[in-house]
Amino acid sequence: MAAEQLEQFEGEATIEKVASLCRRRGFVFPSSDIYGGLGSSFDFGHYGVLLNDNVKGEWRRSMIQERDDVVALDSAIILHPQVWVASGHVEGFSDPLVDCRTCKLRFRADQLEQAACGKRPSRHPGGYSECDLTEPRAFNMMFETHVGALRDEASVAYLRPETAQGIFVNFKNITSSLRVKPPFGVAQIGKSFRNEITPGNFLFRMREFEQMEMEFFVPPADAAEWHRYWVDQRHSWHVGLGLRRSHLRVRAHAAEELSHYSSATSDIEYLYPIGWQELEGVANRGDYDLRQHSEASGTKLEWIGHEERYVPHVIEPAISVVRSTLAFLCDAYDEEVVAERPRTVLRLHPRLAPVKVAVLPLIGRDGAMTEKARPLYEELRKSISAEYDDTAAIGKRYRRQDEIGTPWAVTIDDQTLADDTVTLRDRDTLAQERIAIQGTKQLLLDRLDSS
Ligand code: ATP
Repeated sequence: MAAEQLEQFEGEATIEKVASLCRRRGFVFPSSDIYGGLGSSFDFGHYGVLLNDNVKGEWRRSMIQERDDVVALDSAIILHPQVWVASGHVEGFSDPLVDCRTCKLRFRADQLEQAACGKRPSRHPGGYSECDLTEPRAFNMMFETHVGALRDEASVAYLRPETAQGIFVNFKNITSSLRVKPPFGVAQIGKSFRNEITPGNFLFRMREFEQMEMEFFVPPADAAEWHRYWVDQRHSWHVGLGLRRSHLRVRAHAAEELSHYSSATSDIEYLYPIGWQELEGVANRGDYDLRQHSEASGTKLEWIGHEERYVPHVIEPAISVVRSTLAFLCDAYDEEVVAERPRTVLRLHPRLAPVKVAVLPLIGRDGAMTEKARPLYEELRKSISAEYDDTAAIGKRYRRQDEIGTPWAVTIDDQTLADDTVTLRDRDTLAQERIAIQGTKQLLLDRLDSS
């Protein structure tokens, strides 16, 4: 949608810098760290949890709360194994892989250009004359497990690789219990699992990740129009929460790229520091899933109105929390020099920021100041995420808040003791204004609301 398409990420972020800040400031830790980590798995620390929650909250707000045509669902992670046979995942949810007989590593055949081979100095697989690559083979990405006491063929089950199927198999439950009528959607946030072969790039591709998916059921004739509508809606959501327009583009899949279920897909791509990559997919799944499950289960999944009866077509915007969070982090990451000192700042949209306001007594040891600061903090935290900090020099405390993206800091100083005013510092402009202590909460709520 940008007139001129950028080739390179514009800004100070690199994946390494963002990963390092995330670790240093307690957003994200390598999973099982003390055992050397586990590939493509991460644990979220305090600020990571708050940030992810805000991303999910904003998704829920725009997909469910502010609409009257979308309802929520939370389906099980382990579904009846036949679900995955009918959906086509047992047969077709695979990536093409090649093995290198020389270095014994395995690569995605469609991503050889981004992969590094096992020899040093590393080149792309196939880059050395000794590289001996096999023909591509399909590798199913679903994690298998067993349900019940016996471990045999009959007890095989799968950890879901997408949340969507839980929605399709509940179609009848939802249409018969809730006041819905096409066009309507069902939205779900939950963990999905994929045995990804090309890990790396921090949060970008994980083996266990939360998806935010919405299946929008429409009359077949209206599917193409609704597909365009959802691409636009989702694009606006990303822009509204701060991603630069120039870092976003919409790319329609070519016929040979389409998933087994899709009749049209457009990816909303983001220009991560590693290049343009899929941020969110918006697929037109047609009537594929409802028909497959109707046939396999014997339960007709269709819409029956007063004068009509049809199998709806489905438009699906699907994104993971981590890809969204990573894009917000990259876009927000900034480094600058202020008063001859470097500062790193996350210019997160205030609604996404893990902490909205820090309450800081100018002198942490000053009992009169802390006596004013503490009740203000306790009042603020009832309504918004707030943090109290009376350690270290004030400059250091500001820098810490800048690095976790806190948009506002309230400082209690000598003047507060005299006239009950505080300083409100803005993370981005660094402007400081004097405001009444009593009005602080309402002012922040108003700013958050209008941000
Ligand atoms: P990719 O080609 O990048 O692996 P995909 O086309 O397989 O992605 P979809 O099946 O369309 O992805 O999944 C929908 C969304 O889920 C993606 O747009 C992305 O935001 C997210 N997603 C998919 N796989 C992963 C993963 N391994 N880690 C994190 N997020 C993922």
